[in-house]
Amino acid sequence: MSNILIALGGNAILQPGQKGTYEEQLQNISISCGKLVKLYMSGYRMAITHGNGPQVGNLLIQNQRANDILPMQPLYSCVAQTQGQIGFMIQSVLENQFRLKGLEVHAPVILTRVLVDAVDPAFSKSTKPIGPFFDEEYAKEKITQGETWMQDSNRGWRKVVPSPRPVKILELDIIRQTLDQNGITIAVGGGGIPVISKGEQVVGVEAVIDKDLAGSLLARELEVDAFVILTDVAHAKINYGQPNEVDLTHITIEEAESYLAAGQFGVGSMAPKVQAAVEFVRYTGKRAIITSLEGIEAAIKGEIGTIITNSPRYDVTPKS
Ligand code: ADP
Ligand code: MG
Repeated sequence: MSNILIALGGNAILQPGQKGTYEEQLQNISISCGKLVKLYMSGYRMAITHGNGPQVGNLLIQNQRANDILPMQPLYSCVAQTQGQIGFMIQSVLENQFRLKGLEVHAPVILTRVLVDAVDPAFSKSTKPIGPFFDEEYAKEKITQGETWMQDSNRGWRKVVPSPRPVKILELDIIRQTLDQNGITIAVGGGGIPVISKGEQVVGVEAVIDKDLAGSLLARELEVDAFVILTDVAHAKINYGQPNEVDLTHITIEEAESYLAAGQFGVGSMAPKVQAAVEFVRYTGKRAIITSLEGIEAAIKGEIGTIITNSPRYDVTPKS
């Protein structure tokens, strides 16, 4: 029996070009959960985390647009709301799919707060894209209103917010217990609700923590056997988007770090995934995988995806 941590990317919940209706999200989650149920049936036990970038940005727009009739809620409260909303969808779909197979498996969602450093330099430089993509004209207008926007991997313009490093998962013990008891736990959604300590108090802070970095911290704390980051590309690439683009299949943490230093990975998209993978592998000596949702089964067997290990001799040939 193997314990793994799965970080579901935004496209596991919302596909590019979709509007984001509840039904669309549920349908995407059904496909994603189908893969997870298969993994469970083949003996894997899993902690599941997920992004919330599109959803939290959308909720913020709903708040902004309705501000003349209803007061805006803080960003961290929107993170909490989307963590609950997405967690509920994954939980319901998973449990229903298990029931169709005659299994009574509980998939508890743990509302998770993640402590960050109040003086993290990230608070003075926004890097985390949230919400939908807009054209340059719209973005420039928002910038004149004081917001920070940037181009996201040549896919359009997005609002960006501070993304401090995750320091401590406050609900770790209960997450561990639910994983042990049920074989599944859903936690640290959207990177966790960002909080800081203020004297004896713990209070929310305006930020969105990167879900891959928070997932890496959870993976280390749970000491899982593999940290699997599922996104919309089958591999991390070098020379991404150029004619000489190359898929990375197996890299060591040293290679990953030199590509990171050379700026090969998109800020706020692929770079935090590779960084998250490196941190997990360095701490545990185990493997991290970056791949697409479609490829998860093959990736776990070492057939596709970007595998990051601490040794160039790591055997990535498929096991039968
Ligand atoms: P997720 O919601 O899964 O976290 P992101 O959009 O944050 O997804 O990150 C995945 C995206 O990273 C890809 O769709 C791709 O556009 C972008 N990206 C940036 N740099 C690279 C790279 N070097 N290799 C592969 N993808 C990259
Ligand atoms: Mg992302």
